[in-house]
Amino acid sequence: MTGEAQNASKLTVTDLHKRFGALEVLRGVDLVVPAGAVISIIGPSGSGKSTLLRCVNRLEEADAGEIALDGMPITRLRGRDLDAVRRRIGMVFQQFNLFPHRTVLDNLTMAQRVVSGVPRRAAEDRARSLLDRVGLAEKAHELPGRLSGGQQQRVAIARALAMDPEVMLFDEVTSALDPELVTDVLDVMRRLAEGGMTMVVVTHEMSFARDVSDEVLFMDQGVVVERGDPATVFTAPAHERTRRFLDRVL
Ligand code: ADP
Ligand code: MG
Repeated sequence: MTGEAQNASKLTVTDLHKRFGALEVLRGVDLVVPAGAVISIIGPSGSGKSTLLRCVNRLEEADAGEIALDGMPITRLRGRDLDAVRRRIGMVFQQFNLFPHRTVLDNLTMAQRVVSGVPRRAAEDRARSLLDRVGLAEKAHELPGRLSGGQQQRVAIARALAMDPEVMLFDEVTSALDPELVTDVLDVMRRLAEGGMTMVVVTHEMSFARDVSDEVLFMDQGVVVERGDPATVFTAPAHERTRRFLDRVL
């Protein structure tokens, strides 16, 4: 890869390998996410999608390969350097992982205050403006358990955004939601994409992947089987495995 191409890439994953015991979960995955791009990852359960995101965020240690942020390798960072890099990468999970005994506002201010040392007032201002952005301004003082799943997930997205990340990773964030709650969450993500956020989105929402992504990757058994612009992947997939998967889910 040329230096120029690397500079254009916000996040680059090169030949990533990961195994759990005898199980080889990632078998040489490459991923280039240009700044401001939205990449969707689709594929059957167990294909390694979550493991890939978790390796990118360094929640899992890759066995081999390289992960770079703005061209700087982050694969082997430790301690403070790792903490600093983690702050630049926001992640939202299927299970929202909000702090249940803290208000929505506290959920959004805690990391800002503890991790980044932002003063209370500034953290709250930022939290309120983010809650407004995800349509939940009036829920600031509720406990998460009093919100619907869709609202909790929007809080989780706002909480990740509170750290002002440069990249956002989404791991099936609508999969645990009742169908009628999915749209609001996808709308928030769509607006985030339109606002220029760099995003990697693992999703079963094929219409989102088709409409919002710059590129779609189809993963199966630890490799990227196929990648391309959404129109091509969804209407004229090159690989039989992609075709079979899409036949099942579309
Ligand atoms: P996906 O997100 O595509 O469904 P995952 O990345 O969650 O796939 O999992 C890929 C494979 O790795 C699965 O077979 C899963 O059981 C296995 N796996 C994931 N995490 C672990 C772990 N911590 N220990 C052992 N096996 C794991
Ligand atoms: Mg998964």
